Amino acid sequence: MEELQKLNKRISNDKSFRSWMLRRLEGYIEYRVRERGIEVRYIGQKCTNQRCSRWGTTLKQNQKNQYFECQDCGYEVDSNYNAAKNIGMEVIFSGQMSRSRDG
Ligand SMILES: [Zn+2]
Repeated sequence: MEELQKLNKRISNDKSFRSWMLRRLEGYIEYRVRERGIEVRYIGQKCTNQRCSRWGTTLKQNQKNQYFECQDCGYEVDSNYNAAKNIGMEVIFSGQMSRSRDG
């Protein structure tokens, strides 16, 4: 989790890294979806839009149209980016969990 927090800080502070990361996330998600047949929709679009990708707080008030503003920690980011990050994290974590089960 510490690594994730460092990554989050880096993403928040670096715009070019942010767009690079978003592209990588999108590519990674697509790859995972094809590989495992995961339905991205299935993860829950509504939740990912309202959940803070920094600390995971889900609040209805968090999303303001195309802009995400966390009412809990004050994290401000493009809402598409926030949702992509949430979906990406879920795919990555679910992938890690099933991998460790496989041994
Ligand atoms: Zn937050």
